[in-house]
Amino acid sequence: MKQYKHIFFDLDRTLWDFEQNSHNVLQEIYLNHHLQNKGIPSFEVFYNTYHKINHDLWDLYRIGKITKDFLNLERFYASLKAFDINEKDTAKAMGLDYVTLSPYKKVLFPGTHELLTALQVKYKLHLITNGFAEVQTTKIKESDLEKYFEKIIISETTPWKKPSPEIFKYSLNKTNATVEESIMIGDDINADIKGAASIGMDQIWTNFTKSKSDFKPTHTVTKLIEILNIL
Ligand SMILES: [Mg+2]
Repeated sequence: MKQYKHIFFDLDRTLWDFEQNSHNVLQEIYLNHHLQNKGIPSFEVFYNTYHKINHDLWDLYRIGKITKDFLNLERFYASLKAFDINEKDTAKAMGLDYVTLSPYKKVLFPGTHELLTALQVKYKLHLITNGFAEVQTTKIKESDLEKYFEKIIISETTPWKKPSPEIFKYSLNKTNATVEESIMIGDDINADIKGAASIGMDQIWTNFTKSKSDFKPTHTVTKLIEILNIL
């Protein structure tokens, strides 16, 4: 068993319940923009369409094929067009609402505070998160997570995104940590787990959805609190 000193956490879908928070914001947007009156029969129908479009656009953003601004407009514009609503201005307003409102949502996965409180006594905790700087910073503050972390590395403030080995090396550098005394905890088998493994860092995969993977992480848990059995 290695003697870890530094624990690097992912944020979205690892601690901050992205799906639930996003669902709550989109419900507000659906109501505020009167999408039912425009012909989208129910929020759930809208949500399912948006979810698929957003997922595909994020794949393109992650590999650098589209910009942040394009992603934020297009996920709403394409979702409206899927219901024959060709309203770019509405899509723009929805995109603005989404980025404005969502960072203020505070739903965390069960056990987040309990886990971080316990780990903080024994380790230095840090975050490495892919995302937009202003959005991620607000989320961390609003959901009362800031107090646990010494260093917060947000991809937009670096030239890289996870799974680039460079962002992991940069994070070690910024925290004065070595790879041997560090472990990465995250939900994304590619971005977090394979990314950390690519520089020889141990990993804990928070596989809440019990997904299958050919890659074998150092450890896998299905609930946050199980991490206390490992660390
Ligand atoms: Mg994540």
